[in-house]
Amino acid sequence: MSDNEIKSARILIVEDEAPIRTLISFACAGAGFEVECTDSAVTAQRIVEENRPDLVLLDYMLPELSGVEWLEKLHADPKTKDLPVIMLTARGSESDRVKGLNAGADDYVVKPFMPRELIARIQAVLRRYRIQSQNRGGTDDVVVCGPLTMNESSFEAKVDDVPLSLSAKEFKLLLVFAKNPERVYSREMLLQLVWDNANVDERTVDVHMLRLRKQLQGTKAENLLQTVRGLGYRAHVE
Ligand code: CA
Repeated sequence: MSDNEIKSARILIVEDEAPIRTLISFACAGAGFEVECTDSAVTAQRIVEENRPDLVLLDYMLPELSGVEWLEKLHADPKTKDLPVIMLTARGSESDRVKGLNAGADDYVVKPFMPRELIARIQAVLRRYRIQSQNRGGTDDVVVCGPLTMNESSFEAKVDDVPLSLSAKEFKLLLVFAKNPERVYSREMLLQLVWDNANVDERTVDVHMLRLRKQLQGTKAENLLQTVRGLGYRAHVE
């Protein structure tokens, strides 16, 4: 996907609340995207089969089939498992966000949001897909984040072709950041995403972050993992 193709990407909006749907639709059209809207996941499935969009904006709470249920279906189907999806979730519902990310959402946006933030998220996800498709050369499951490359199927992580030696948890943790650069994750979210809500202390996250940073020391990804005071951690690509 070229820069121009990203600018004119086709976005499918799945949102049952008409005023929000209209707002998102205006924002996307204003940014130059081609827009299609529906109020149900059932119709969205048909649209995807008939004319696949470049990205789906998917509300979490929908009648009939919920956003997250449909997302699980999309990901179970080889034809649609690589369709980029951004979830729209309600404020304060951290568990919805985690469920969405676990079901395979590429990112989430919390309602109410600034249209500018939404557009930036869409562009970031589309750019990431473009980089991945350029890098993978036919193989799936490669995530690129600045100088860091991670292969989800072989569990290999490299910085500029130098392999990192990571434990399974460290790999999973680093992958969360690599998939969504600039996105801030709270310790609570990381515990849910990486440790599946097991009964572990938030300090476990800090300990693993410390180990990851040690691994990255002296590499080009030395400053990749950043602490965001009072909020958590993020990956920042310079
Ligand atoms: Ca809704």
